[in-house]
Amino acid sequence: MKNTMDIKRLDKAMQQANKAFETYRKYSLEKRKTFMYKIAQLLEQSGDELIATAAKETNLTTARLINERSRTVLQLRQYADACKSGEWLEARINTASIEKNIPEDLRKMMIPLGPVIVFGASNFPFAYSTAGGDTACAFAAGCSVIVKAHPAHIRTSTLVADIILRAAKECKMPEGIFTHIKGESFEVGKYLVTHPLTKAVGFTGSFSGGKQLFDWGNAREIPIPVFAEMGSTNPVFFLPGQLKSKASEIADTMAKSVVLGVGQFCTNPGIMVGIESDQLNKFKKILSQKILESPAAKMLHEGIKKSYIKNENTSLRQKGVTVLAKPEVREREGRPLIAEVDARYFLKNKTLHHEVFGPYSILVKCRNMEEMIQVASSMQGQLTGTIWGSESELKKNKPLLEIVQNFCGRIILNGVPTGVAVCLSMQHGGPFPASTDPRFTSVGADGIKRFTRPIAFQNWSNNMLPDELRNENPLKIWRTLNGELTKDNIKV
Ligand code: NAP
Repeated sequence: MKNTMDIKRLDKAMQQANKAFETYRKYSLEKRKTFMYKIAQLLEQSGDELIATAAKETNLTTARLINERSRTVLQLRQYADACKSGEWLEARINTASIEKNIPEDLRKMMIPLGPVIVFGASNFPFAYSTAGGDTACAFAAGCSVIVKAHPAHIRTSTLVADIILRAAKECKMPEGIFTHIKGESFEVGKYLVTHPLTKAVGFTGSFSGGKQLFDWGNAREIPIPVFAEMGSTNPVFFLPGQLKSKASEIADTMAKSVVLGVGQFCTNPGIMVGIESDQLNKFKKILSQKILESPAAKMLHEGIKKSYIKNENTSLRQKGVTVLAKPEVREREGRPLIAEVDARYFLKNKTLHHEVFGPYSILVKCRNMEEMIQVASSMQGQLTGTIWGSESELKKNKPLLEIVQNFCGRIILNGVPTGVAVCLSMQHGGPFPASTDPRFTSVGADGIKRFTRPIAFQNWSNNMLPDELRNENPLKIWRTLNGELTKDNIKV
C-alpha cells in the first residue's frame, strides 16, 4: 500500500484486535452470549434511520430491509444461544483405559482461531455484512472481528458498526474486539488478509474477489483459511411427470424465484433443465407470460448493474442461445430475462455454465433423460440443486439424484433454491467454485466451527483443564464421554 498512514492505521487495528482476542477468548460462553444479545437488542431498536439509509444506498425495498434486519437479529440470538449450548465445542473425553489401549486421559474441544476479517456483502447489507452471519459466528467462537466495509453501503455499515461498538462498551468488552475498516481499495483487503495476526477470513461476493482473497490467504508464509462463498447457478431439473401434472404451478413458482430481489441472491435459479415435450412447451409458455409481467427494478449498485448487462449479453451471444422471454422496458437495469438453449450447445460451452448475477435464467432443453444426466454431470460445484418430480419419478431416477447430491451443498425437491432458512440443519456452501471449503456452512450455527480449531489435552489434571472438559461439567454441556453423548459428570 502506498499510503504509510493507512498502513499504520491498519496495523494498529490488527494489533488491537489481537490483544482483544487474547482477553475475549477467555471470556465465558455466557459472557459472549450477553454481548451478542446486546448487539441484537440495539439493532432491533435501531429504528427507521438505519432502514432509510440502507434503502438509499442499496435500492432494496423498505419491507425487504426490515425483514433482513429481523433476520440479522435472529441470527445473532440464535448463534449466541448456540455459543452458550456448547455443542460446537465438540467436547470429547476418553478416560485412560489399559483395555482400550488409551494409556493416558485425553480430552478434546474446539478453540477460537484468532482475529477474523469479514468482507461485507453488497446484496445483504445487514445479514451478511457488518453484524451479519460471519461476524456473529466469529464472536460466538471467541474471536475478535475486523470488518472491511462494502463500499456500496458504507453509511449503513457505519451505523451498524456504531451499534456493535456501543454494545461492546456496555458489555465491557476489550477494546479492539470489533473494528470497522473503510476504504475502497483491493490493497486494503490484501493488507488485512496477509497481515500476520489475521487468522481467518469470511467473504460473500464475486468469484474473482473470493478466489483472490483465497489465493492471498494460501500464499502467506503461514496460510490461513479463507471461507469465501462465491455464488452459484443453482440448477433446477424438471422431471416430465411432475411437469405434466403441475406445469402452471411450477412455472409460476419458478418465475417468482428468478425475479425475487431483482435476482440478486446467490441462490437464484440461473439454470433450468427440462426434456423437450408438450408439457415443457406449456411450462415455457406460462413462465414467459409471468416473466413478461415482471417489472424491471434498480439493482444494488452500478458495478452489479454493469456486470449484469455484460454477462447477460455474453450469454446471449453464445451459439444456440435464444431469448424466451424479455419484457419490453425502457430502462435496461434489472430487467428479467429467460433464455433457452439446446443441451448439445450447453454441454460444449462452459461460458453458459457461469453465473449471470441478476434476474436471468437459461432453460436447457434435453432430448431425453440420458441427455439430462449428461447436463447434470457437467455442472460445477453449486450451493444448491433442485429436482421437481413425483415420488415415483424420483425413485425411478436415482442416478440423477445422486449426481445432483455430488455437486451441491443443499438439494431441494419440488421447491425453489431462493429463501435460506437460518437454522442448524441449513447448509449454505458447496463444492468449489460455490465456496472455497464445502465442509462448512455460512448460514446456521454450525458456521461457528469455521473460526475454530480442535485441541487435545493429554494427561491433564482436573484442576488444570478448561471448564468445558472438567470432570464436574460445570457448563452442563453435551460431551462425548468414552463414546456416549452425555451431560454427566465424570466420576473419579
Ligand atoms: P465483490 O466485487 O466480490 O466485492 C465484495 C468485497 O470484496 C468488496 O469489499 C471488495 O473490495 C472485495 N473485493 C472484491 N474483489 C477483490 C479483489 N480482487 N481483491 C481484494 N478485494 C476484493 O462483490 P459485489 O461488489 O458485491 O458484487 C460484484 C459481483 O459479485 C456481482 O456482480 C455478483 O456477480 C457477485 N456477487 C455474488 C454474491 C453471492 O452471494 N455470492 C453476492 C453479491 C455479489 P472493495 O471494497 O475494495 O471493492
